[in-house]
Amino acid sequence: MPRLETATLERLREIVGPANVLIREEDLEPYTHDELPGLSAVPEAVVKPGSAQEIAAVLRLANEALFPVTPRGLGTGLSGGALAVMGGIILSLERLDRILEIDEANLMVVTQPAVITGQLQKEVEARGLFYPVDPASLDSCSIGGNIAENAGGPRAVKYGVTRDYVTGIEAVLPDGEIIRYGGKVVKNVTGYDLANLLIGSEGTLGVITEITLKLLPLPPHRVDLLVPFDDFRQAIRAVATIISGRKILPVVLEFMDQAGVKACEAFLDKQLPFSDAAAQLIIGLDGTSAAEVEAQYTSVAELCLEIGAADVLVADNPANKDRLWEARRILLETLKAQSPVVEVEDVVVPRSVIPDLVERVAAIAERTGFRMVQWGHAGDGNVHIGIMKMDLDQQAWEEGLPRVAEEIFTAALALGGAITGEHGIGRVKRRFLPMAVGPAEQRAMKRLKEAFDPKGILNPGKIFAD
Ligand SMILES: Cc1cc2nc3c(=O)[nH]c(=O)nc-3n(C[C@H](O)[C@H](O)[C@H](O)COP(=O)(O)OP(=O)(O)OC[C@H]3O[C@@H](n4cnc5c(N)ncnc54)[C@H](O)[C@@H]3O)c2cc1C
Repeated sequence: MPRLETATLERLREIVGPANVLIREEDLEPYTHDELPGLSAVPEAVVKPGSAQEIAAVLRLANEALFPVTPRGLGTGLSGGALAVMGGIILSLERLDRILEIDEANLMVVTQPAVITGQLQKEVEARGLFYPVDPASLDSCSIGGNIAENAGGPRAVKYGVTRDYVTGIEAVLPDGEIIRYGGKVVKNVTGYDLANLLIGSEGTLGVITEITLKLLPLPPHRVDLLVPFDDFRQAIRAVATIISGRKILPVVLEFMDQAGVKACEAFLDKQLPFSDAAAQLIIGLDGTSAAEVEAQYTSVAELCLEIGAADVLVADNPANKDRLWEARRILLETLKAQSPVVEVEDVVVPRSVIPDLVERVAAIAERTGFRMVQWGHAGDGNVHIGIMKMDLDQQAWEEGLPRVAEEIFTAALALGGAITGEHGIGRVKRRFLPMAVGPAEQRAMKRLKEAFDPKGILNPGKIFAD
């Protein structure tokens, strides 16, 4: 595609105001990467619209002057989706950052896309309401980015993912048309569900400008448990057994291996609980009464001890909970501090076969010699694998990484899983899409993209291989 001409930049300034078009190198820098280490792309300009109408005008101009437009929320993505890899502009949604309405009568919130997810949660919780989806990045990611990625998070075990809460969307399609689908309705089967089409479309089918989310009453009681195991396999087996054996659905069921906990300990320079254990589970339980939650955690603790847990730490106040979650929250930062290049895989399998997946990945690490740390949302079958370059030379890394990733994906697919559970295909997993999706499905996906975006201006270079 041609580079942006001076006249095009002038028209962009007319649409969004001169202060909202950035072109100086130092102003562009924060928009050159997301949170995946080792991948960057410099846009020609960053454009910050203040309304859906301005976005529509920008997209109409892009169709005319043929320049790529890459939507961007708050840049916490882990698959390179918000990078302007084909040049053109970053369309930053950052100015659309207001919660428009908290509707207590209908248990709904209407919001602009750049509201920080954690902020939205706090605002609704102050009214006794609950937006459960909590990506581990919730203090820095946007709700619009969550919709575009169909974000999950630790609470998906019990409460599901972003898609389960979206009842209405306003979006600007690549040709500049503004559409609205749904609203404050819990049910809706009117024609094709355009909202669901946009959820998880990674900014390639439309720019999300307003969202209606359904809320739940806030469960008043919650307890978290930290459970260390001296045998890694026992810990992973416990994940499946808690749900099937006791018919208790935890809010969260996370695991970390010893390598991950030890890395966090070194990073924080302080001792973390049970850091010598081979693996740790974090189990969260909630309910409407203290007695209900106590009955649940007693049952789960008993089961874990029967399976072989070394101990059970119960946290029922904020300070203890913070201590318990400390390592889990900073794990990615820790890995980045150890190795400037980390590839984060995000495979998902049916939760009953989690032990098989974790064991197969451990075997791949042992056989290939690549350093890997496994952690994640074990309760919903979603395992993150940090593959660290460390001091491996560049050639060995570039040659070895695709093979290692392919082996991990092959293992997940063989177990009935998928190659990404929540981070998306984005830029980095494009070459693996054909492993996971058949030719007919790929053709259908491409036809959809072409129908929405015939000139290929919205977030090109993502999802599909060139
Ligand atoms: C420490 C850490 C922990 C994380 N934990 C989780 C987790 O538990 N679960 C999880 O799912 N993810 C997690 N993530 C990944 C990331 O936070 C999510 O993918 C999040 O949804 C991205 O939101 P964002 O606003 O930062 O989007 P960005 O990174 O800015 O963009 C992500 C994608 O969405 C598109 N996009 C953004 N906004 C819009 C919009 N308004 N309209 C159309 N397209 C748009 C972009 O084009 C891009 O393709 C984590 C990331 C980090 C760094």
